Amino acid sequence: MRNQIRYKKRFTKQPREKAVDEIASEQDIRKELVKLYREEFGKSPDILTSAPGRINLVGEHTDYNGGYVLPIAIDRRTYTAAGRRGGELFIAYSKELSKKTSFEIQPGKFEHSNFWVNYIKGACTLLSDMSPVKGVNFAIGSTVPRGSGLSSSAAYVVSIIEAVSRLHDIKLKDIEVPILAQRIENEFVGVQSGIMDPFVAKFARENNAILVDARSLEYKYVPISDRCSFLVCVTGVKRALATTEYNKRRQQCQIAVVGLAEKLNRNITSLRDVTLEELKCLKNDFDPTLYARSLHVITESQRALQTFAALENDDLEFVGKLMLESHLSLRSNYEVSSPELDAFVEIAEQSEGVYGARMTGAGFGGSAICLVDADREDELAIEIAAKYKARGFEGGYVFIARTGSGSKVEHA
Ligand code: ADP
Ligand code: MG
Repeated sequence: MRNQIRYKKRFTKQPREKAVDEIASEQDIRKELVKLYREEFGKSPDILTSAPGRINLVGEHTDYNGGYVLPIAIDRRTYTAAGRRGGELFIAYSKELSKKTSFEIQPGKFEHSNFWVNYIKGACTLLSDMSPVKGVNFAIGSTVPRGSGLSSSAAYVVSIIEAVSRLHDIKLKDIEVPILAQRIENEFVGVQSGIMDPFVAKFARENNAILVDARSLEYKYVPISDRCSFLVCVTGVKRALATTEYNKRRQQCQIAVVGLAEKLNRNITSLRDVTLEELKCLKNDFDPTLYARSLHVITESQRALQTFAALENDDLEFVGKLMLESHLSLRSNYEVSSPELDAFVEIAEQSEGVYGARMTGAGFGGSAICLVDADREDELAIEIAAKYKARGFEGGYVFIARTGSGSKVEHA
């Protein structure tokens, strides 16, 4: 199955049955993980937590520029079954990676061969700064595709923080969870990711998008009409240079801020502080690459606000238009798209019943999303997946994503 587009028909047409199907499959995953935990550690876990993956509707590469983002959690989650073992040793098993490893908290020690363990180490280290953290057994299971721009890393690390903090009775404020998660990715994993992914993993609500002001961390929800559904195309491609290019974009934005502060002769701490009019006045007097990057960030942040308003007005046509504008800007101004993402968006945009499509997540491969007429979701998923495959992109698949909710304790 790996070499062909998979259309996973996970739900039947009846809305009631869809909900039942969804819950049943998630229940199976939870049960299976608890069973696995028992097999690995010889007793039941003390706690089971979970956090969702996400799609981002509009607002890409804006969070680390102090702008707005508008993500939505999906019904694919990462589960952490955990139990106290005492002592200094931590043991972790990842079902998806089929790997088990043990470690102690030693600040500054990066695990090269078990990269995935750095997230857990980071969580335990930062939490142990607040209160002593003793050894824990972990079993991790997930339905979020990994490394595909759907934020498996934030789902994973947020579910770990929720488990470890509760096992040690460390009372975190809600807002501390995404902040810790971001620090873990930045300081312990080496990815300069922004606040969006852990934020939505913590705060998302089913059937809602969440508008986050990445500077103030204020947020508000907006319902998503039941007239529409989301298709996700996992391209299966991750460019080798993704991390380097991502960090390069962040750096370019920082350089742009310094340049713009000088030219505008005032204090600017992020691209959020610059208006589109101000930027446009400098078009012929600013480095073209930095201009294009800034243009993307400033317009994209505005688009996130406009998309929020369009959802409030239930104007799906306008949401779709903004999604496409976002994609074109990411492709041409920010230069983070890929042939696979562009092909999916082009195919989707040409299909009847589609409101809009764009890449989602940081880019350089990863995933694209498509907002479609809910009545036609099944046929469009099949049609678009087939056309995508016919273009020669063999490695990807399409699925229908439902909205999901933020992190939770499944049982204690
Ligand atoms: P994304 O967040 O878009 O999925 P990232 O590269 O940020 O992509 O994160 C993927 C990494 O997160 C994986 O390489 C792995 O280290 C870690 N990870 C995510 N899910 C799991 C899991 N279920 N088990 C172990 N590690 C995981
Ligand atoms: Mg990630």
